[in-house]
Amino acid sequence: MDKRVYIETYGCQMNEHDSERILRLLENSHYLETKEAREADLILINTCSVREKPEHKVYSALGRFKRLKEKKGTLIGLAGCVAQQEGERLLDRVPYLDLVIGTHTIPLLPQLLERIEASGERVCEIGLDPRGDYLKTPLPQSPLAKVKSYVTIMQGCDHFCSFCIVPYVRGRERSRPSQEIIEEVKHLAEMGVKEVYLLGQNVNGYGKGLEEALDFSEILRRVNRIEGIERIRFTTSHPADLSDRLVQDFSELEKLCEHIHLPFQSGSDRMLRAMHRGYTKGSYLERIDRLRDVCPSIALTADVIVGFPGEEEGDFRETLDLMEKVRFDDLFSFKYSPRKGTRAAQFQNQVEEKVKQDRLSILQKIQREITLQKNQALEGQVEEVLVEGRSKQSDQDVTGRTRSNKIVNFEGEMNLVAKLVPVKIMKAFAHSLRGEMSSSTYTLSDSSSGNNP
Ligand code: SAM
Ligand code: SF4
Repeated sequence: MDKRVYIETYGCQMNEHDSERILRLLENSHYLETKEAREADLILINTCSVREKPEHKVYSALGRFKRLKEKKGTLIGLAGCVAQQEGERLLDRVPYLDLVIGTHTIPLLPQLLERIEASGERVCEIGLDPRGDYLKTPLPQSPLAKVKSYVTIMQGCDHFCSFCIVPYVRGRERSRPSQEIIEEVKHLAEMGVKEVYLLGQNVNGYGKGLEEALDFSEILRRVNRIEGIERIRFTTSHPADLSDRLVQDFSELEKLCEHIHLPFQSGSDRMLRAMHRGYTKGSYLERIDRLRDVCPSIALTADVIVGFPGEEEGDFRETLDLMEKVRFDDLFSFKYSPRKGTRAAQFQNQVEEKVKQDRLSILQKIQREITLQKNQALEGQVEEVLVEGRSKQSDQDVTGRTRSNKIVNFEGEMNLVAKLVPVKIMKAFAHSLRGEMSSSTYTLSDSSSGNNP
């Protein structure tokens, strides 16, 4: 008989996708997903430890599920970065936890569950796999009720930025062989997926260590040729590794959406050096100019950290200056949080919490205004929207995204889902756009892919 699994996911897109991979794996072991924790035979918490907050959430989530364990013996497991980092200590600290599974051992999950079910033992499996076999991704068995899907192309990171835990919890860069990626994308296209989001901590590093000589740009070209796929996105690319060829791809590959997420972290050269980022404010700005020369409409988003150890007022002003110069479409901004085991956590000159908070508030206020202005500039324009489903706000509305990745809500029927629809932008808000379907609706099959209507 089928069992039920409930997954709660914290953190980044990589983690969200790991949860999808876990569900695909468990589907083959007769575990079906439930959205209700109290119905579940197995509860998995998929964690992230990149910043402090998600880590706290994990412990409070575990506390919430304790009663279910006591009441009906639900199996409880922890996966992801916190699991990788803390390992056995978690079993000691949380007596009702049955399973701790690391970032590289996900493929072992079905076997481990069998073991736990048979013997009742508590298991921790967090070995790192230098061969990269953990990147193998089971293909979805049943049609997907969604129009876009993540596809992991590489994992891990060799950059070792001084603030970042990723190389320790995800290991070194490992790329998936190209044929596996292409096979997965073709399969997703057959299952109705129209947009693929290629994932990796540093996608520009794709190809290192593979027998076949190819780079990220070549993977983009191959995915671009796959029939049925209409849009390609990727994240994350490191500014130091942004190749001219990749910049050029924004004008050459018609399915590649005009959006890049290019984290800059700080506008101060002093901070960038201490962060071990491998570029300067000037060279970052040059890369932005190159991108805009090749693709003037490109939308830009980034990550930024405030309050890195030693950051002074002047450094922070350099960050604001970079933001004002680039005028990002949106920013993901974080207060620096020391991660155990990283170099920056040992730096002596940590910044006071209040200073970090004040800087974050100033930065976010400025960015909110820029984002709104950027969105307002789209008012009156017709944008191509890939419709994803019903809007959460209204039963009359559908929701989708522009090629520049902005959310658009507009009145429409569910038969528009999975179609590219020309939508006139009527009103801009901070986080979304309101539109009206433009006169001609066309389906993916009769649209010339990638071109704005
Ligand atoms: N690989 C990407 C890059 O370097 O551009 C970033 C991936 S990282 C998982 C996502 C973001 O989390 C980083 O860009 C950074 O802004 C933020 N981050 C990572 N470590 C952090 C820390 N210790 N404190 C605050 N923010 C952090
Ligand atoms: Fe972390 Fe730096 Fe690697 Fe990004 S490039 S994952 S911030 S170590």
